[in-house]
Amino acid sequence: MTLLDRMRDVEVRLARACAASGRKREDVTVIAVTKYVSAAAAEAVVQAGIRHIGENRWPDARDKWEVLRGQAVFHYIGTLQTNKVKDVVGRFDYIHSLDRLSLAEAIHKKASSLGMRVPCFIQVNVSGEASKHGLHPEEVPDFIRQLQPFTAVQPIGLMTMAPYTDEPEQTRPVFRGLRELRDDINRSAITEQPLTELSMGMSGDFEVAVEEGATWVRLGSVLVGKEE
Ligand SMILES: *Cc1c(COP(=O)(O)O)cnc(C)c1O
Repeated sequence: MTLLDRMRDVEVRLARACAASGRKREDVTVIAVTKYVSAAAAEAVVQAGIRHIGENRWPDARDKWEVLRGQAVFHYIGTLQTNKVKDVVGRFDYIHSLDRLSLAEAIHKKASSLGMRVPCFIQVNVSGEASKHGLHPEEVPDFIRQLQPFTAVQPIGLMTMAPYTDEPEQTRPVFRGLRELRDDINRSAITEQPLTELSMGMSGDFEVAVEEGATWVRLGSVLVGKEE
């Protein structure tokens, strides 16, 4: 399949998931995860009209960032070590993996020095799998309260990864759990602005995530493909 074939296929599936759940297609934004492909392939994605690019390591993202800066919006979706914050803040427009206060502090310091704020998703381990990063759901409200001094960190929503499965339907409780957590947080008005965003859904499970309220889906293999 070519990139355009994959884009068309994803689009049909997204439209179907939106229709099935009474959502508007424009309320879901696709992030093309380019971590498996070259800078040339990432450039082709942007030329085909996808503006949002996701990467999970700065060394792998560097070439793509240099080629596409100014033309694409960059999302940092991987685990972020505190000593790598200096590479990421100022280059990436969004961070999807905020999972600890020491990281919030480092982002705040670097972003403040650049005179900017960084929109961040708080990563939540809804499934409770030991291998997954992220806060446990019950820790999130307090975590958000403790973010307040870090004014350059702008919490905009929650992110999760569902367990890998051959049966996408099994991921539904995880995605529903993230949405309910967001709605609970908004009802208790912990944040200045309500958390509007949910970053959830990957190649194997994005339709279920959309049906459960995803506002951003992160699509690698199903959309961008994989290169050796
Ligand atoms: C790699 C990755 C993706 C995309 O994975 P696919 O299954 O290829 O769509 C999405 N989110 C995160 C955090 C990733 O690391």
